[in-house]
Amino acid sequence: MQSVRLHGLKDMTIAEKIKTIKTQLPENVRLVAATKMNSAERVREAIESGIEICGENRVQEMLEKYGKNAYDGAELQFIGKLQKNKVKYIVGKVSLIQSVDSIALMDEINRAAQKMGIIQDVLLEVNIGREESKSGFMTDELETALQHGEALESVRIKGLMAIPPACTIPAENRPYFMQMKQLFVDIANKKYDNSMMEILSMGMSGDYLEAVSCGSNMVRIGSGIFGPRDYSKQ
Ligand SMILES: *Cc1c(COP(=O)(O)O)cnc(C)c1O
Repeated sequence: MQSVRLHGLKDMTIAEKIKTIKTQLPENVRLVAATKMNSAERVREAIESGIEICGENRVQEMLEKYGKNAYDGAELQFIGKLQKNKVKYIVGKVSLIQSVDSIALMDEINRAAQKMGIIQDVLLEVNIGREESKSGFMTDELETALQHGEALESVRIKGLMAIPPACTIPAENRPYFMQMKQLFVDIANKKYDNSMMEILSMGMSGDYLEAVSCGSNMVRIGSGIFGPRDYSKQ
């Protein structure tokens, strides 16, 4: 792994940052640009610069940019907290919903996908740091969720996603990433129907190198590509 860090790269253009990140990632690791709070124009710039997957957090924001054809030429995924009543707006538009955090949500996605006659790929989000402020299944709830998934005809579980606790140095998250990798392998070995452990989505701007070294094969990077988000505009 190269040791170059993104915060040392803040004078680079979006294209340069994407290029740098890509050279750091092994071939089996997919890069998702976390596009929240970035305009359709900036999303397009990222796609022109080599981004193949965009991940959005909010349904409304996604639909607005979708209406402006912001994601043309890339795959679109959903990575944020998803309410059941919003499911119908995104099923069929996104190739993967990374943030499935309850059985009720899984059922709702199944219903919506069935109605459309499609199969929706999802990841189960794991609350690996057991944080009250975070969504996701607790590790001891995963088995029930995976068993529940066995009967769903229009949802396919493709792997796991996690957002570990905020940390001051990236290495602090290594134990969480390693626990996730272990879970991923254990679940794969148990061979649940309708679940294939293909995607292990973990690692963001501050810690993607650690995540990858612990076995992540999908990183979600926002500020490392687009620069800091301006929350004052919200
Ligand atoms: C915003 C976001 C990211 C990217 O965060 P950065 O620290 O800006 O790279 C990744 N995953 C999820 C779920 C996010 O909401």
